Amino acid sequence: MNPAWESIRISICRRCIDGDNSGACRLPEEEFCPLESYFPDVADVIFSGRGKTPAEVQKLLRGRVCAQCSAGSEASCPKRDKLECALERSLPLIIEKIGSLGVRWTTV
Ligand code: SF4
Ligand code: SF4
Repeated sequence: MNPAWESIRISICRRCIDGDNSGACRLPEEEFCPLESYFPDVADVIFSGRGKTPAEVQKLLRGRVCAQCSAGSEASCPKRDKLECALERSLPLIIEKIGSLGVRWTTV
């Protein structure tokens, strides 16, 4: 497993309402987590955006990740509105974790 994703799994997934408190995901098979599915893009945007405000990073993420996500779009998303997207829900902590990593990576 990619060490960057492992770090996220330990810190984010363990606190996620869709997780099992040990880092495993309990989402039903027919659903997906954008944080996991688009993790290389999420990580790249946050890494590249170090020094920007959380609001600026969120805007960049919506332009890169939400724009390709099948659950919604950059402009609107029902999961975003209902706080059902882990990427949106945990963004401050995700930014903190990824921002503290010292290396860039390319694959999960
Ligand atoms: S929904 Fe995403 S953040 Fe939450 S436990 Fe599953 S993979 Fe982790
Ligand atoms: S907010 Fe919506 S469109 Fe953006 S990543 Fe989450 S589920 Fe996908």
